[in-house]
This record gives sequence, C-alpha cells and structure tokens, in this order.
Amino acid sequence: MTDTQDRPSRTTQAAGFVRSLTRLTVEEARSGLETRDRVDWMRVIPFIGIHVACIAVIWVGWSWTAVGVAALMYALRMFAITGFYHRYFSHRTFKTSRFGQFMLAVAGASCVQRGPLWWAAHHRKHHRYSDQPADVHSPIQHGVAWAHCGWFTTRPNYATDVSQVKDLAKFPELCFLDRHDALVPALLALSMLGLGALLEAVAPQLGTGPWQMLIWGFFISTVVLYHAVYTINSFAHLVGSRRFETKDDSRNNLLLALLTFGEGWHNNHHRYPGSVRQGFYWWEIDLTYYGLWVMSKLGLIWDLHPVPAKLLEDGRRH
Ligand SMILES: [Zn+2]
Ligand SMILES: [Zn+2]
Repeated sequence: MTDTQDRPSRTTQAAGFVRSLTRLTVEEARSGLETRDRVDWMRVIPFIGIHVACIAVIWVGWSWTAVGVAALMYALRMFAITGFYHRYFSHRTFKTSRFGQFMLAVAGASCVQRGPLWWAAHHRKHHRYSDQPADVHSPIQHGVAWAHCGWFTTRPNYATDVSQVKDLAKFPELCFLDRHDALVPALLALSMLGLGALLEAVAPQLGTGPWQMLIWGFFISTVVLYHAVYTINSFAHLVGSRRFETKDDSRNNLLLALLTFGEGWHNNHHRYPGSVRQGFYWWEIDLTYYGLWVMSKLGLIWDLHPVPAKLLEDGRRH
C-alpha cells in the first residue's frame, strides 16, 4: 500500500473541513459542545422578526388599555414559564392530572419559547453540566451575550433531545405541542387582534384597536418577557450572592427574583432543584410559588415538593 492511498485525498480533506464548519459531529451535538459561531440564521428569522415587529408601535401608538394588557400578558406568561415549563416540566416539583398537564403545556407554549419537551430537555442539561463547557448557556464558559440569547440560535440546540425528557415524551399531546410550537403563539396573536377589534367596537373610548393590541399584547410583551427570562441564564450565574456552595456559579439576586417571579433565587435552586419554592425563606419573594400555592388550594395541582428541613437549617447559617 502506498503512502498516497493511506492518506485522504486533498479533495476529501477539503470536503471534511467545509463540513466541519457547517455541521457538528454527532458527539459534539450530543454533548452540547457546539460553538458560538454556528448560528443558523434561517431559524433565527422568526426571533428577529418578533423584535422588529415592535417598531410598529410608531404607527399603532399606545393606550392605557393596550399597555395594561401587555403587562398582564407578561405577568401571566412569566408565571407560566417559571411555574410550568421550569418547575413542572423540567423538575416535576408538583403533580397534576393529565388534562391539567396539557393546560400547563399550552400556557407555557404561549411564551413563544418553543415546546415543553425542548425547553425541559435543555434545562435538564443545564443542571447536569452547570457552568461546564457542555452547559450551552453558561456565561462563564461562553460569555454573557451568548448565554442571554445566542445559544438557542444554533442548529443542534434547535432540536429537542428526547433522551432527556423520556417521561414527557410518553404523552402524544405534549409531543404535538412540541412539534407544532408556533401553534399556540399564533392563536395568542390572533386573540390579541380579536380583543382589540372587540374593544374598538364596544368601548371606543378606550382608544385601542386590533393592531395596537397585537403589537402591545403580543409582540412587545413577548420581547420583554424574553429578555427578562434570559437574565437567569446570563446574569443569575454572575451577579448576586451564594448561600450554598454549589458546583456551579449560580447566584441569589433579589432584583432578578422580582423581575422573573422568583427565578432569581438561582443559587437556592441549583442547590435543590426538586423544590417547588426557589425563595427558601419568607423574605425571599417568590411570586411563582405563591401562585402555585393558590393553585394547589384550588385543587388544580397537588403534592408540592418542599425544601428539606435540614437544607433550610444549613442555609440559615450563611
Ligand atoms: Zn442555572
Ligand atoms: Zn432548573
């Protein structure tokens, strides 16, 4: 065998190099070790479009009603993303019925942050690899901007890693929502148009209409919600205090906790992700927990998993 036969030809080498620029190896994709320079621009267009649509506020103007609806949509959906996508689907910190579970998934899907399986799969990996190279949104490993809103723009991160969420993939209705993740957001956008048209017809003194309601109630509210939620990936591993010595750089931060309805108690959460509460003590404001507590009193959810007493005791010493 000659030397030339052993070595790959120049053409094969060049093809391999080009492929490595555009596509990850299976191993890389599985471990989440993709790099920041592989943005899949086609996939990012809807995300950019949602931001660009907000510029239309120049033409539709504002009204107290539209701003109020936008704020309400922010609050309801922040509760849905933290209470349902995070504390239920990612960590299973409480129980509900199968129909209840579907409704939680629909509410979570209205946040325009993909489907419940996709969200939970990535989040479970975040806990597994926290602040290690395979943690795709670690600000320590990949920088603040990438952790904030870069990591989900890559092709491998666009896919749902079902191996992480086998417990959820058993339910065809959840898989349906995950596969058709634009459905609920589209219905929400249409509802906003409908609400605006209705209010214009029955209460014209409110000064709103379908297009204004769409821009405020859907687009602006969604963009603000996006960047508030993203602060947990970008800043809650950088800014704040550490009550517990966890293997990552998670922090507790009151400001982020207020903005995200409790998610800012991120060091607590990394210490014990199985708890329905992230504010471990009465002074750690956790609006999502209060909402879930009310839902449990109404019988909508049950078996809320508490923080172990020993952990609360340990935490007090810090
Ligand atoms: Zn984290
Ligand atoms: Zn978590």
